[in-house]
Amino acid sequence: MNAGQRWEQGIEHNAKSVELYKRIAKLDFEQGDVFCFKSGGDGDNGEHLMYLLDQIFEPVEDTAPVRVQKICPHCQKPFKGLATATRYCSSACKTLAARQHGREYHRKKHHKKERP
Ligand SMILES: [Zn+2]
Repeated sequence: MNAGQRWEQGIEHNAKSVELYKRIAKLDFEQGDVFCFKSGGDGDNGEHLMYLLDQIFEPVEDTAPVRVQKICPHCQKPFKGLATATRYCSSACKTLAARQHGREYHRKKHHKKERP
């Protein structure tokens, strides 16, 4: 992911990038301000430097998110889903499972109420 893409997506600078940038900017300022670093605004050279440093400290691959083999907890069908986000094979299963859970939840709640 390049500096432009990082800017567009509003990705925060790595803490190490910020620290290193501040040290470089301070040194440059003390020694003639050759680079005339500025940060905090769109297109500022300091921001660009930090995005470059981000790529060194925290490289983000351009490849598609990793998909892993999973089993849908609703229909038991194997499917490929995102490592973290997906649980069910389809939105239909997700809805059905949620409805089922909702019913179970309400039934239990209701059952509790009936008890003395
Ligand atoms: Zn399913």
